[in-house]
Amino acid sequence: MIRLMYLGVLFVMIALVFAAATVIRKRDDAVSKSISSLFLMILFAIITNGVFVMSDVEVIALWSHSLFLASIDWLLLLMLRYTVVYTELVSRFDKAMKLLYVIAGVETVLLGLNPFFHHVFLLSKLQSNSVGTYYVPRSYGMTFYVHLVFSYILVVWIIALLAYKTIKTTRVYRKKYGVVLLSMILVVVFDAIGLSLKPPIDISLLFYCLGCFAIFYFSLFYVPRSMSETILSTAVQMADMGVACFDVSGKCIYINYRGRQMVQRLDRFSIEGDYREMEVYFAQWLKEHWQPGDEEQTYTEKLTDGYRQFVYEFTVQRLTDEEDGLLGYFVNGTDRTEEVEQYEEEHYRATHDMLTGIYNEHYFEEKVLETLNKFPDTPYVMITSDINNFKLVNDLFGTERGDEVLKMFAHMFRKYAKENDIYGRLAEDHFAFCMPKERFASEPFVNVMKMIEEEFTNDYFRLQIKMGVYEIHDIQEPIFVMIDKCNLAIARIKDSFSKRVSIFDDQLFLEEMEKNRIINEFDGALSAGDINIYLQAQTTEDGKVLGAEALARWQHQENGILSPCAFIPVLEQAGLIWRLDMYVWELAVKRLAKWKEQGREDMHISVNISAQDQYHIDIFQVLKGLVEKYGINPKCLRLEITESIFITEVEHHIQLVKRLQEYGFEIAIDDFGSGYSSLNILKDISANELKIDMGFLQGVKDVKRSESIVSSIVELAKKLDMFVIVEGVETEQQLQSLKKMGCDAYQGFYFSKPIPEEEFEQRFM
Ligand code: C2E
Ligand code: CA
Ligand code: CA
Repeated sequence: MIRLMYLGVLFVMIALVFAAATVIRKRDDAVSKSISSLFLMILFAIITNGVFVMSDVEVIALWSHSLFLASIDWLLLLMLRYTVVYTELVSRFDKAMKLLYVIAGVETVLLGLNPFFHHVFLLSKLQSNSVGTYYVPRSYGMTFYVHLVFSYILVVWIIALLAYKTIKTTRVYRKKYGVVLLSMILVVVFDAIGLSLKPPIDISLLFYCLGCFAIFYFSLFYVPRSMSETILSTAVQMADMGVACFDVSGKCIYINYRGRQMVQRLDRFSIEGDYREMEVYFAQWLKEHWQPGDEEQTYTEKLTDGYRQFVYEFTVQRLTDEEDGLLGYFVNGTDRTEEVEQYEEEHYRATHDMLTGIYNEHYFEEKVLETLNKFPDTPYVMITSDINNFKLVNDLFGTERGDEVLKMFAHMFRKYAKENDIYGRLAEDHFAFCMPKERFASEPFVNVMKMIEEEFTNDYFRLQIKMGVYEIHDIQEPIFVMIDKCNLAIARIKDSFSKRVSIFDDQLFLEEMEKNRIINEFDGALSAGDINIYLQAQTTEDGKVLGAEALARWQHQENGILSPCAFIPVLEQAGLIWRLDMYVWELAVKRLAKWKEQGREDMHISVNISAQDQYHIDIFQVLKGLVEKYGINPKCLRLEITESIFITEVEHHIQLVKRLQEYGFEIAIDDFGSGYSSLNILKDISANELKIDMGFLQGVKDVKRSESIVSSIVELAKKLDMFVIVEGVETEQQLQSLKKMGCDAYQGFYFSKPIPEEEFEQRFM
């Protein structure tokens, strides 16, 4: 009966081994392989043991028990083999294992010879009621004890390796070896207890079997799963993302390290370890945002720690079981603060002026456009400001003070601005402001301007700020055009001392268009020969012609003859006047060459030199080149230089004049008396001729007074040995009084208007 029961248990074991084998077969890692060879051997042991237990024939019992003992050697050896593989110590025990295989082989041979020589054990035949006839081994020989010692060594070895590994490994992996170690210890303990009870049947094999199943289960299923869970939970714990789980009732059942950090630094959840506040917050959020059908929602929230604002992005997911029953909520939170701050900073840099902190040009325009489109029915005005000579502020006061002016502007704008006002710094010293027309009044701006002006005005320098205003009629108009229009308005009052505010009107715009047209057409006009010179006679008091002044005329294709007043200032502004001058000089020199041929070298032509010429050309070289090219006497070409040119870089001009004179040119100071420091010029520059413009006396009501001014100038010039010519002589009366003063020559409508060259030659030569 007992034997049958035992056999039944063995069958169950066999069935389990087969079941395990089918699972293992599919795996080919080293651990699985070592376990499958273990199972193979246990199968062999079960069979031999089963046969031994059941046999009542002595030879069979002898054979089966001998082989059973050998299989136990191999079983333990394969268990050790599994242990070194599992503990990853294969390489270290490679040689030892080989030796053990040899010993096990020898043992097997010795045990196999037992049926013949009986040197291991003998069998006693026993009879009992409960078991029936059966055999038990007795009279053990040396070989048996060798087998026993070998087995114990293997067992100790296995346990020692597992214990060593369990202690040595990291905390996370301790479980991996610990459970196998514990199973082995339990096998040994139960086996010992089993043996000490001296049952009629040796049931050690059953414990070995259980040991093998424990190995099978722990190493292939339990440990990998629990390890992966441990690793996973550690990973979640360490993740850079905050993770929290809430159950259905809203209680927080898990929160990882990052999540705790994110929550605890906020002032509203500051109590450590207490997540009730957070649970309340989450419950409230669910109530407000979560719809019954929702699976997942992502939202961003700004939270603060009292000092700093954090931006968290949360994803809330519904957790369900297989039947879609709600388990709770999974929340993961990412701290986006730095990204947002970085974006905001980049955005700020891209849209603001770094010095003043107000909008830059690009963003100002963008914002104006946005606002105009948002309130299309509200009339707006555009205002720009400009500081006259801002460069001088930097030069005189230093760039730091210059920056201060700009910051002050920005500060005032900030203070003055109301909702829907847009303001920014367009460039250098140019600011712009856009506001509803209804609120616009120039006084506050003027007050601000005055205040800043006072701050930066001293004995030598007066800061002047101008403001241009343009009422926006068409919101489709490009913003830069609106700004240009304001600047145009400013340009009109640029030279005025008293005017600060200038309002754009269409006339101004038309003028600007006209200017642009002139600049665009200038090149074509030069090459088409549309620009030529008129000559205006310069005579003695009785009308004898001494020479002429060459004055540019533009025969415009559409507009007829253009007066220099219409295009010369424009060309000056555009930096193109030097090209006109060079052109005019050459025409004048050509004419002189012709006159020379005609034997009229006594006649001169005066040409104008513009202040700007020196910045574009080497005046001396150009004039010298012309004289040489056409072979004329430089004396015949008189150079009229306006007195205003001599105000700056005095030394340079003294040298230029000297050089020109040394070559043979005669120099006239043009428009004498119209500038501010005329007398200084006389002191510094030794010109040959002084040209006094009657025009500058035109405003003077008291004729006597103006006459005495001219007469003193003439007297002074005479003393300096200068040739005096008066231009703008229109009347007989003027001529008579000028004569008395002792002027040398006259130019004016009284004698002749500027006329075409041929006409001049016909009339005067
Ligand atoms: P400017 O050099 O002072 O030339 C004399 C101007 O006075 C001329 O005007 C002439 O027509 C005008 N004028 C002459 N007599 C009388 C008079 O009795 N009464 C009045 N009211 N005006 C008189 P224009 O030709 O219109 O030239 C104006 C200015 O344009 C010139 O003043 C000169 O500064 C500039 N300009 C003319 N041609 C050239 C040129 O080729 N190069 C440069 N840089 N400037 C030129
Ligand atoms: Ca002139
Ligand atoms: Ca003049």
